[in-house]
Amino acid sequence: MLKILMAASEASPFAKTGGLADVLGSLPIALNNLGGDVRVIMPKYATIPISLKDSIKHCCYIYVKLGWRNIYCGIEQAEYKGVTYYFVDNEFFFHRDGLYGYGDDGERFAFFCRAVLEALPQIDFIPDVIHCHDWQAGMIPVLLEAQYRQLDAYKNIATMFTIHNLRYQGVFGIADFKDWFALDNMHFSSYNLEFYGGASFLKGGLVYSRLLTTVSPSYAEEIKTFNYGERLHELLKVRNKDLYGILNGIDYKEFDSKSDHLIYQTFSKSNLSGKAANKTALQKDLNLTVGEDIPMIGLISRLVDQKGLDLIACVLDEILNENVQFVVLGTGDNKYERLLKDAAFRYPGKMSAIIKFDNELAHKIYASSDLFLMPSLFEPCGLGQIISLRYGTLPIVRETGGLKDTVISYNEETGEGNGFSFAHYNAHDMLFTIKRALSIYKRKTLYNKLRKAAMSCDYSWQNSADKYMELYHSVTSAMEET
Ligand code: ADP
Repeated sequence: MLKILMAASEASPFAKTGGLADVLGSLPIALNNLGGDVRVIMPKYATIPISLKDSIKHCCYIYVKLGWRNIYCGIEQAEYKGVTYYFVDNEFFFHRDGLYGYGDDGERFAFFCRAVLEALPQIDFIPDVIHCHDWQAGMIPVLLEAQYRQLDAYKNIATMFTIHNLRYQGVFGIADFKDWFALDNMHFSSYNLEFYGGASFLKGGLVYSRLLTTVSPSYAEEIKTFNYGERLHELLKVRNKDLYGILNGIDYKEFDSKSDHLIYQTFSKSNLSGKAANKTALQKDLNLTVGEDIPMIGLISRLVDQKGLDLIACVLDEILNENVQFVVLGTGDNKYERLLKDAAFRYPGKMSAIIKFDNELAHKIYASSDLFLMPSLFEPCGLGQIISLRYGTLPIVRETGGLKDTVISYNEETGEGNGFSFAHYNAHDMLFTIKRALSIYKRKTLYNKLRKAAMSCDYSWQNSADKYMELYHSVTSAMEET
């Protein structure tokens, strides 16, 4: 049985700020169903919901070297949906109100990376593959090659690194890196950790891991170009033969219009009447004008440039001058939060801006909306549009990354499609596409046909989990040969 340890900074339902957590909360289940022994290791944050904290048990403790310090680190453990989750516990580093955005994030995740490797013999789980996710786990493959490889327990461990978002890179000073990791100069050339005068966790993961993946086929191509490569495209081109794009799935049990306990009323593609009931219930809850026939556009997102918020800012009044309701749930840059709250104030009954992170409300919006707006500048995979499809809510997306791989724009001639899309990053192209979607919304029979097509798409983990399994097998057999 293949033993895989996934290392990441968030996993649903323990801690979530975005799609990374969804993946770490659902992919391991799918892989275990295929016969793997997949476990996850992540920091123990203060924000883990109290209802889950009781299930977490102390496993052991170790001391982790960070520069000249020898720091206490508890290892805790919980089972969730048949998956073992390990937690790296240090109150100074992780007992905080949020997950990221602190001045010492570099040091916090340096501690995490070292703790993961130190913990392996203690938890008695020597994996065949350590599968690292995003920059916070990027230094694990570096430390493994530079400092642990010669030790018996670590001799055969293969490494895989998944890019969930190339923009976040974990770049800090070289002097800090040397202090945290006790690495010598040879690791700080432009061929390995050095990055425009600093050093990068992410680049470490990309250079030192045996296999690389990212979360959609289109993004895997895009990141090898100057426009999307975030200054790492040349390196990704060099590693092209080891780089795979595997589309994310979602947990089809968690997001299921037929059984979701978080929505007002369940519904199915053969009986869509419950969908309208969700909309009217949400309209009442959010003080919007109540009416089954008013098209509702939902947006659930981090409110940052990546998500196309500047396109929305540009034509927000034009959107709201249509016969439409706009429901936004998100947190992020202050300028976007203010802009959206201001619009909600100016368009009472038509617009609602809820500035918080709220999983239950997110489910209600996915189920209630008619359209889901996701005009991203770039999108590694995107889960919002995939969840929307599952609830018969047609996505309006820009054709980039995973959005391009999952949403097929409605084609009047062939009748095919599960949503609406536009190509250029341009506010009026987006507005035109929204208007087109609104005009098709009026054609009830056609719109219901498109809803059914959306709900018939299969973006469960079924296919993608198989692809990960194949890669795990290929990387472990390559290790055996070396
Ligand atoms: P990213 O990982 O770039 O943030 P994704 O679309 O891949 O974007 O995943 C975002 C995930 O986070 C989705 O599950 C989405 O529903 C959820 N999400 C984003 N913002 C919020 C919010 N304010 N409240 C609840 N869930 C949210």
